[in-house]
This record gives sequence, C-alpha cells and structure tokens, in this order.
Amino acid sequence: MVRVHSSLIGMDTHTTSSRTPVTLLGLGDMGTALARAWLLAGHPLTVWNRSPQKAGPLAGEGARVVATPAEAVASATGPVVLCLLDDASVEEVLRATDVNGKDVVNLTTSTPAEARRRARWAEERGARFLDGGIMAVPSMIGRPETGGYILYSGDRALFESHREALEAPAGVKFVGEDPGHAALHDIALLSAMTGMFAGITHAFALVRPEKGLDPAGFATLLTEWLGAMSGMTHEMAAQLASGAYTQGVTSSLAMMAAGNEALLATAENQSVDPRLLTPFMELMRRRVAQGHGNEGLAGTVDLLRSE
Ligand code: NDP
Repeated sequence: MVRVHSSLIGMDTHTTSSRTPVTLLGLGDMGTALARAWLLAGHPLTVWNRSPQKAGPLAGEGARVVATPAEAVASATGPVVLCLLDDASVEEVLRATDVNGKDVVNLTTSTPAEARRRARWAEERGARFLDGGIMAVPSMIGRPETGGYILYSGDRALFESHREALEAPAGVKFVGEDPGHAALHDIALLSAMTGMFAGITHAFALVRPEKGLDPAGFATLLTEWLGAMSGMTHEMAAQLASGAYTQGVTSSLAMMAAGNEALLATAENQSVDPRLLTPFMELMRRRVAQGHGNEGLAGTVDLLRSE
C-alpha cells in the first residue's frame, strides 16, 4: 500500500492506494496529459522533466517531483514510462540511469529499428522493455469515449503485469513480442493518414473556387465517403493474405485507372496541381499495363514494394 495525495480523487488526503506506482519521464503536452490520467485514476506518480517548471502544477495535483532521471528510475517500483521528443532524447535521459531490474515502457514515437535497439539496450542492462505508439492526441488521453489507444509490443509479461496502469490513460492494443511492431503499426497508420489527408487536400482544392459551394457541407460528404470506402481495406487484406488478387474484386483496377483520366482532366480545368494524386495513379496504370486490370488494388502493394 502506498501513500498518495488524493485531492483529485475526492478522498481525504493521506489515504492509501493499492494502484501500481508509475514513474514518468517527460512532461511535454503528451506527458502532462498522461500524468493527469494516472493521477486521476489513483496511481501514485513520480515525475521528472528537463525543464522543472512544467512539473509544478502536477506537484499541486499529487505527483512526487524528482530532480533527476537517475533518482526517478532508482525509486521506481512500477513501470518507468518515457514520453520524450524522440529517440535521441530517450538516449540522453536514460544514459545516467540504472535500469537493472526495472520495467521500461517507452511511449516516445520511434522507428521500428530504434525500438528494437532500445529493447536490446534495456535487455543488456537487466531491464524488461515495452515499446508503445500513442494513437491519440493529448486531449484524448484519459477520455476512453474518444477512441484513442496505445499500441504496445515487446515483453508480454511486462505488459500483462502492468496492464491496469497502462489502461488508465487510453485503450491498449498489444501487437506482438517483436519490440519494433508497435512502432511499425504506428508509422503504417500515420502513413495511411498522410495519404488520406493528401486526398482531402486535393478535394478541397477542387471545390474551393466554386461560388455557392459550402466547405462545411462538402466536409460532411467527404467524411461519409471516406468512411464508406475505408471498408475496401478488408478486401485488400483478404486478397493479400490469399494471394488471389482477382477474387472478390469490387472495383477493377482497369475501371479505376480509366476513371483517373476524369480526375486529372477536372484537376486541370479547376487549375489544381495533381501532384498529390499522380504517383499513385502511375502505379495503377503500370499494374494495368502488366496485364492485371482485372485485379483490385492489392497488386499495387507488391509493385510499390518491388520499387
Ligand atoms: P513536446 O514537444 O510537448 O514535449 C517534448 C518533451 O521531451 C518535453 O518533456 C521535453 O522537455 C522533452 N525533451 C526533448 N528533448 C529532450 C532532451 N534532449 N532531454 C530531455 N528531455 C527532452 O512533445 P509531446 O509531449 O507532445 O510528445 C512526446 C512524445 O509523444 C513524442 O514522441 C510524440 O511523437 C508522441 N506523441 C505526441 C502526440 C501529440 O499529439 N502531442 C500524439 C502521439 C504521440 P522540456 O520540457 O525540457 O523541453
């Protein structure tokens, strides 16, 4: 049982908590949101931040503030969570710490290679390691109704033993024991989002000059359309899994490639630069030219990978 300041959880001060103590290094926008979620859930929280003034408000809300990462890690009895800018800052912050026997959970956005290197680094020093990718913005943390979640991969036993604490800020999805897989999923999802925003940008550029066309009304159409079309990912996944790229095809590549001509002609008429669309259209054209017009989009995945 651990003493916890409890002004935020509606109890008298100096009550005790049976919740897992959490140690958090990094109090930027995301780290601060995580900190508040753990405090609100009643987890005893120790925090450190390079710029100490950011810890002030959290001290008033019940966090224990320490002066150095070494002190934070040494006193940790639960997960040591890092939420820093990038892998270089994680390297710098952990350098002077002794992680032997500790459970390190890195929520700093990393590449898969960085996450695997960090896992090896932790293992060599006697620590268990879990990497996480946060699929949420700070305002979604501690608010499960927003649908935000954190992807985890690495040490399954660590994940299971601290599951309750890890679930306090957001939903959790464990995606495997390869420590690079949370980062790979994170980056793949962000990459898909980037392509989606490219399409949205092009669409707004097409309709923007039209008098009497309300962007808000168009946004509603766009949201509904993208939602309906996103179901195609399951068709692609089934074809990629089976290798039967012509099975269950809803829209043939030949039809889509032919339709692209109307998209390009309209872009030209509306004086819109088509640069956000043309690389993908070129892939589709090439796949059709190779004799695969009766497939859906699955074949373009292989074409892209063999580049
Ligand atoms: P911020 O820029 O708000 O905070 C960065 C944090 O890293 C601060 O605590 C900063 O300390 C610390 N830091 C940076 N460099 C160093 C260093 N060399 N040594 C020690 N500490 C350092 O970023 P966020 O909090 O928003 O993001 C943190 C992580 O969360 C990132 O990896 C980000 O990709 C990820 N994330 C963020 C999301 C968001 O919407 N904000 C969404 C999903 C993931 P100091 O205060 O002293 O500058």
